[in-house]
Amino acid sequence: MTLIVQKYGGTSVGTVERIQNVAARVKKHRDRGEDVVVVVSAMSGETNRLIGLAGEISGTPSAREMDVLVSTGEQVTIALLCLALHEIGCDARSYTGAQVHILTDSAHSKARIMDIDHARVCADIKAGRVVVVAGFQGVDEKGDITTLGRGGSDTTAVAMAAALKADECQIFTDVDGVYTTDPRVEPKARKLDRITFEEMLEMASLGSKVLQIRSVEFAGKYNVPLRVLSSFEEGGEGTLITLEEDGVEAAKIAGIAFNRDEAKLTIRGVPDQPGVAYKILGPIGEANVEVDMIVQNIANDGTTDFTFTVNRTDYAKAMGILQKESAELGAREVVGDDKIVKISLVGVGMRSHAGIASKMFEALSKEGINIQMISTSEIKISVVVDQKYLELGVRSLHEAFDLAEESVT
Ligand code: ADP
Ligand code: ASP
Ligand code: MG
Repeated sequence: MTLIVQKYGGTSVGTVERIQNVAARVKKHRDRGEDVVVVVSAMSGETNRLIGLAGEISGTPSAREMDVLVSTGEQVTIALLCLALHEIGCDARSYTGAQVHILTDSAHSKARIMDIDHARVCADIKAGRVVVVAGFQGVDEKGDITTLGRGGSDTTAVAMAAALKADECQIFTDVDGVYTTDPRVEPKARKLDRITFEEMLEMASLGSKVLQIRSVEFAGKYNVPLRVLSSFEEGGEGTLITLEEDGVEAAKIAGIAFNRDEAKLTIRGVPDQPGVAYKILGPIGEANVEVDMIVQNIANDGTTDFTFTVNRTDYAKAMGILQKESAELGAREVVGDDKIVKISLVGVGMRSHAGIASKMFEALSKEGINIQMISTSEIKISVVVDQKYLELGVRSLHEAFDLAEESVT
């Protein structure tokens, strides 16, 4: 018998009517004889609302209590969906993460799933029930509630699919698949029928929030067939995330990702000596601030300028650390900018095609967009630009690489 895991995101369960629509869709699969496990997010806006409430009480809330708080959103939707399923004659049971033993480490707000005890789920499936599991949450060895990071319901779904060896994990959302770029920024973006795990992983890690990065990692590692589909349209094939060998379209560029949550810091005029990079970044790492791009330029006066990017939420913290270090390092000055964004081109075809970078830089220069930093890997090129150029930059690259047209690049 076919077993599918379906995940419905916040907008898809955002109202009672939408929850009833989800129930109807699930029932259709049951009527076709498929076994269905459903993972749901909180109603759209609910997780932000809960975070806001905590913020009214505390500027430094306990991570443990935050997880107890934000996990409640998903407990509401699992119960409502089961009620909607019962109303249309579909046997269903809801479970929190703890009830199905989604065991995680204890890193509150960014916990990793270590194990799932699926015995209870399997028993329900055998008994002919739809199982509805709360996304985004787990439980650690002490029995404390944990959450998996924003967008974490995707990861719950993939982990359930891996544990149950499901035939497919279907991520239902408010777009009908993965596009060449966020259709909210470029309306001409084209839906991809397929994208490789590798490309999807890059797109997700470079800012495309259509799938949480860990869900893609998990799906790649455990070989879970993963598909992104619309919960508002019927009958579409969505986008299949595949292994490269599966004959994925041979386009050079799969898509354009961008990240608005960036900030950069520069320490200027540091004496150029061994150990400088370590002395600058050591304390930043110790403060749990993740560093992304790094650029170092040596001047001919024996000093170096050192620039790196961090998440915008860590900007003030990183600036404080750098300013403290600067005197000790004998630096000339510390400057920063938290109004920058990162735009990235992603595609496995880049490996075998030269000239992509220069074409990218040409397109940006034609629009008068100044590139502040560049970084590359085998399958991506990223640039940092002023945030006011985000939309223009994405659209001009989309045009330059003919992404609106099928496999032309
Ligand atoms: P959900 O609440 O269902 O998890 P998300 O908001 O997390 O939905 O993800 C869907 C959104 O991701 C879309 O509305 C779209 O704006 C955004 N998005 C960003 N990049 C892409 C892309 N390349 N393809 C499709 N959607 C994208
Ligand atoms: N409700 C959580 C969030 O808003 C998890 C999710 O939607 O996947 O991040
Ligand atoms: Mg999401």
